[in-house]
Amino acid sequence: MTENNHVVRLLTALGVALLLYVVLLPGNGIMAQPVRERLPVPELTYVVEPIIQGESGLLRVSLTFQGDASGSSRLLLPLEWAEGVGLYRAIRNIQSLSEDTKIEDTKEPHVKIVHHRPNTRVSLSYEVVSQPPGTKLTREIYYYPVLRPSYFYVMGQALWVYPDMPESNPLHLSLHWKNIPDGWALINSFGLSKSRQKVNTTLQSFREGTFLAGDYRIKTIIINKEPVYAVIRGGFGFTDEEFHKLVKQIFQVTRDFWKARGFPHYYVALLPTDDVSGRTGGEGRTNSFILYVPKDSNLSEHRHTLAHELFHEWNPRRLGGFELISGVEDERLYWFSEGFTDYYASLLLLRAGLFSLEDYVAGYNSLIKDYYTSPVRLLTAAEMVQKRKTSYEVERLFYRRGAVLAHYWDIAIRSATNNKSSLDEVMRSLLKSAKAKGVSLSHKRIAHALHPYLGERGTRDIEKYIDRGELVPADNPFGTCAIAEVNNYHPWDMGFEAAKSFKTRVISGVKPDSNAHRAGLRDGQKWVSGGYVHGDPNRLTKLTVIEGDKQKVVQFYPASTEAIRLPQYKLKPDISAEERARCLSQLGVPAAVQRKSQSVKK
Ligand SMILES: [Zn+2]
Repeated sequence: MTENNHVVRLLTALGVALLLYVVLLPGNGIMAQPVRERLPVPELTYVVEPIIQGESGLLRVSLTFQGDASGSSRLLLPLEWAEGVGLYRAIRNIQSLSEDTKIEDTKEPHVKIVHHRPNTRVSLSYEVVSQPPGTKLTREIYYYPVLRPSYFYVMGQALWVYPDMPESNPLHLSLHWKNIPDGWALINSFGLSKSRQKVNTTLQSFREGTFLAGDYRIKTIIINKEPVYAVIRGGFGFTDEEFHKLVKQIFQVTRDFWKARGFPHYYVALLPTDDVSGRTGGEGRTNSFILYVPKDSNLSEHRHTLAHELFHEWNPRRLGGFELISGVEDERLYWFSEGFTDYYASLLLLRAGLFSLEDYVAGYNSLIKDYYTSPVRLLTAAEMVQKRKTSYEVERLFYRRGAVLAHYWDIAIRSATNNKSSLDEVMRSLLKSAKAKGVSLSHKRIAHALHPYLGERGTRDIEKYIDRGELVPADNPFGTCAIAEVNNYHPWDMGFEAAKSFKTRVISGVKPDSNAHRAGLRDGQKWVSGGYVHGDPNRLTKLTVIEGDKQKVVQFYPASTEAIRLPQYKLKPDISAEERARCLSQLGVPAAVQRKSQSVKK
């Protein structure tokens, strides 16, 4: 089961890559903030009413809050979130409802000033409008308000107008969902089927919430005595029941991993897009997880995305978020939040019986290959932070380097403790200390959590493999079930500055002794015709160039002349059932799951 699976995994990986930007991190360290007990907790009251108009719809919203003693309050409109920009454009018709209240524009379109009597309650109303009917429902469109005759879906960042206040301060909310049409389901980050809600939260969690009503199909799934609501609208190439089963398996294995309790309300929503198959995305939000899925896609494509995003609920969110250095998040830690999350997404799918051992081995092999052949694999952590927003390869390096390091440490801990402990304990100890001490994630804390198993090695490894960027060894996690083959691999290397030369139509940057040079390519030649494929060392490149007054064709394979030693693992043929069981146990796969997948295979 490889060719197809491999393609699927690549697509999923691509989907996951797009997610990095939308993972919600606790902003300014909620837990580190001192509790301001003396100040009254602000109260906001919202009444929201859907108004259906032909093929479109809008939300009429009223807001009431306590105006302060100064007699003027800054009012903030939605601005932007991830792929949604200029969100204030969807807010129309802001009007005051209370006496002597005037709303004034400022130079910034998302900021208004409300003049009111000092210390009085201020009320105003506004409308939230949708994209025009007929707008293609791509994943990006869900970052804007989506309002249709039969449903709406709006993220908090696109919906709420609010008086300016610190995002992490506590907040008392009253929400009233008015005139919801008969037969519509109603669910949001703070409750199910409640048209009146009282919520104690923070402005940040409120804005990171999701708010839905309409023709959604909601199924209650019980995980460790707590409900998870599976929410679907639209049709897909799989049944609701298949999705429910997947949600149950992934939530069960993930919550069991973290020994997690205390989720009185949580939902996962599956929303259809008109995107091409493979263009999947997802986002963990307040008490909810949203998956954007092309209508014609296969459910198995979303297993990894779902497992990955769900794991983010803990890593980094419940592990305390990233440490702040001079008020700024330490972005070096993406190797941990993305790489370890990717590692556990695959491992938990294996433990849930959703990946076979063969799938898991293939996944590790392609991870090693992607990492070892990445042109940026040796960047230091500081360089990675600097370049991550402008380079896809650098962005992916956080995932790859982190995931290989997770394998490496897991193998080391199992070996040092004779399989009594694993990386699982390190992850759970990080959770425990985040809960007990309210600390956030840092290199120091991660090294500290590793210390009982690996001693000083954790600190050294972080310096060596993360800070200095040395190549992390790809050890064998499969015990006696697999053998390593080390191949000499020639990674993609054009041998000249291909992108620049293509632009200027003049060859430049030819490296001596590269395949391109050996074939006769030289600086200064005019590029007449022919192109190249990025990233593929096995694709013969044919370029027509002019040197002086002579035209010639230069052909070469764009592969580095220097080989990389690339380890790849192969399952031994004819592994006995006992041996297989032993290897799977070492990866934490419970015996019951092993038996089940055995019987499925037969
Ligand atoms: Zn992620």
